[in-house]
Order: sequence, then structure tokens, then C-alpha cells
Amino acid sequence: MTDWSALTDACGSAEHVPGLLDRFEADPSGVWSELMDHLCPQLDTALTAGFAALPRLAEIATGGSPKTLDWVLLAAGAIASCAPGPADPDSPLVLFPASIAVLHELTDRRLRETAGGEDYVNLLQALLSFEGVEIWDRSLDGLRTGEYEVDCPSCGVNMFVVIGQDDDDCFCCTDDCALREVQKFPLQPARAQELSALAQRLFTRAVADGQEGVARGVRYLFGRAACPDCGTGFSVAERVVAGWIP
Ligand SMILES: [Zn+2]
Repeated sequence: MTDWSALTDACGSAEHVPGLLDRFEADPSGVWSELMDHLCPQLDTALTAGFAALPRLAEIATGGSPKTLDWVLLAAGAIASCAPGPADPDSPLVLFPASIAVLHELTDRRLRETAGGEDYVNLLQALLSFEGVEIWDRSLDGLRTGEYEVDCPSCGVNMFVVIGQDDDDCFCCTDDCALREVQKFPLQPARAQELSALAQRLFTRAVADGQEGVARGVRYLFGRAACPDCGTGFSVAERVVAGWIP
């Protein structure tokens, strides 16, 4: 049995967390924000009570309706993405392998069923987090928002890599493109056969799931760009990784 009084959440003692999880089970969408505020504030800091909640979240997910399931998977995915990797013996990925396997399988199934692009990317990140994939379990968001902010590896200028809805809408620029007309520099998407192992898997999966927009975005994200200021070519994904703050 979990000794919740020995654990902490964002507000202190985690004694109240089982009750909070009961309320989350009854109303996942309504209680989601409150649950995350306690167990995974800003969706980037997991606390011991968050890790300890994963087995219960797996139970809730197993019994949940398809409508509420995504909320449970996204909560568990956010917590797992903040966990230490499987090399750490204290990682929840190591401590609760059966629960993580259930969460992974349910996420895998939901990815095949999800029609909308927005939830799809979030669920894809959750899938990676249950596999212990670092960085990309929290860095695919730009495929949803359509924008990555990176800096030039040579001159350091800050720029936006925009991955829009079609090929004409994929470019990089140095100013905030939303604010005014800016000079747009073309991106060079990776060919599918050139993709790294992880990128290849994301691309193949998105195609298989009918997510053409996400598949195209993966080719741009793992493709190349050139700095608008100094002309230095670079890998977009490498600059995303370079700018990643754990
Ligand atoms: Zn530059």
C-alpha cells in the first residue's frame, strides 16, 4: 500500500491525493487542471505523489470511457515525461512496469482511433513518455502549435521555424512572423528514408494512423534550415534538442 502521508505534492503532504484521484475518476475533464496543479505543476515538474499516482491512473484508464480516457492518458503521460529514465532504479517506469504497460497499450490504441490532430500529438508524446524516450516526449508540441523557436548554431540569432498546414507555409524567419510581414526562408524537409530511427518511427506511425499533417511535420522537424542572418545550414531537430531545458 502506498503511504501517501510520506509523499509530497506541489502543496505539501500528499495525504489528500487518494481523494483527489477519486474525484478525477468521477470527472476527468473537470478535475484535470486541479490534479495537474498538485501532481505535475506547469506539466513540467512531477512530484513523488505524481509518480505514486501512476498505478491508480492506469486503473482509472482501464475502466474509463473513450471520451474520458484521453484526459487520464494525458495526465499520466505528463507525469511520466517528468520521471527519470528507465536507467534510474527509482524511476516509476521501473517501479510500476505493469501499470506503464497498460498506459502504453491504451495510448497506442487511442492513437489509432484519434481523428483530430491536436490530441494526436499530445497522445504521441504520452506514448513516448511511457517508453522512457527523453526530450521528444515533451518537444513534439511544435507539430501542434506549428512553430519552434531555435537559435542559430553559428551566429546565435533567435529564429522561428514555422511548420504550417501546407508546404508553402513551412519556413524560417528571424522576427515574430505573427506580428508583421517578414522575409521567409525555405525549409528543407527530410526525405522519409533519411529520417533517424525515432523520426522514422514517428513518421511511419503518423502515416499509418492517417495523420498526414503530423507525418509531413515530422519531415520538416527532422529536416534542415538555413539561418536567415548568416546562411549557416543546420538540422532543425538538433537545434530543438540544443535549446531543450529539462
Ligand atoms: Zn546565423
